[in-house]
Amino acid sequence: MLDLQTQRATPEERDLIATLEQLSLRSGSHSPSLATMLEALPDIDVKIDACYLSNPLATDLFWSYFNSDASADPRFFMRLLEAYPSQNRIIAERLAPTIGVDPGGLFIANGATEAIQAILHNYSSHVHVNVPTFSPYYEFATPKHEVTMFQLDQDEDFILDPERYVRSVNKSGADTAILITPNNPDGYQIPDDHLEWILSQLSGLRTVIVDESFIHFARAADSHRLPTLVGLTEKHPNVTVVKSMSKDFGIAGIRAGYAIMSPSRVNELLDHGYLWNINGLAEYFFSLFSRQPFLDEYRTVLRTYNGYISDFISRTASAGFTRGFPTSSNFQLMQITNGMTSELVTTLLLLRHGVYVRNCADKIGLDGEFIRVAIRTESENGHIFQALEDVLA
Ligand SMILES: *Cc1c(COP(=O)(O)O)cnc(C)c1O
Repeated sequence: MLDLQTQRATPEERDLIATLEQLSLRSGSHSPSLATMLEALPDIDVKIDACYLSNPLATDLFWSYFNSDASADPRFFMRLLEAYPSQNRIIAERLAPTIGVDPGGLFIANGATEAIQAILHNYSSHVHVNVPTFSPYYEFATPKHEVTMFQLDQDEDFILDPERYVRSVNKSGADTAILITPNNPDGYQIPDDHLEWILSQLSGLRTVIVDESFIHFARAADSHRLPTLVGLTEKHPNVTVVKSMSKDFGIAGIRAGYAIMSPSRVNELLDHGYLWNINGLAEYFFSLFSRQPFLDEYRTVLRTYNGYISDFISRTASAGFTRGFPTSSNFQLMQITNGMTSELVTTLLLLRHGVYVRNCADKIGLDGEFIRVAIRTESENGHIFQALEDVLA
């Protein structure tokens, strides 16, 4: 599928573009993982993964705790390997006070994706999703499900108009609505009063998912509690709050997340499965939650990282070589406005600069050429910015 666009690339780069296209086709609606890509293209030097969304400072923090705990206990690794992890309900009991919920309503998941699947497969038959979105919300629909979509308006920076939205849900006849705030891939955060009003209007639905996986980047953590919307589940019994730990804690490889829902749903799910769905490493990660020093250090690291995010966003805003959308998260959606395709931009960033960004060509609900750039450490952000400038300006 080489088009006129690729004339901007050298013949060598064109070969690599073709290989990358093949890889993307095989990965479906998610980007090939870094490991998959390095395997297929050993000559490419990927210096920065700005495709997957992750707080690199939090990864370092986890790593330092992990190393010091492992060196303090000679049996640490052996236990991880040979022992069963704790059961779901046990981990929920330990975790509930930190999250600020009743343990009975807490479902611990092997990545938030597992919770999303559990909810959609058990408490939903017709899902209304806002597009663009995080694709599992419609991909996990079975042939028995119906899926309808609400198009977010890119001319309005993807803001969610509460009245238009509620009308659309009602008209669709869906029994399930999905609200991601801040949303992936655009980074728009629904203001509290809008969210409250929307939920009050949707009280007749069977299930409303509020996905707050990126909330730590949207608002400041106070000294007692990390930012969260879990309080919504008390007032709105049909609401499930879903939270991934992959992005803010920088631990996507461990697979850790949770969902807050009615205790009767948690019981129903746990009575029929999910006994040891949390592996030992994820259990170790969750144990760090009950340790005040870890939480305090995480808050500090988060504040620093959120500073890097604002710096990056103001830099791209003033540079003007793309249309960068306002974001309340740790990534920025960019529309390419110079006539290049997102595929070419993604490939050139990789080949020339070793910067791997998300090509959004397969995202439903985006009209035009878009990439999503994950925001990283200060020095990596500088490198990403220069790469963007070189390829786009
Ligand atoms: C990444 C993501 C998740 C799921 O992440 P896990 O790695 O499965 O915990 C859920 N929701 C949104 C909006 C995401 O971007």
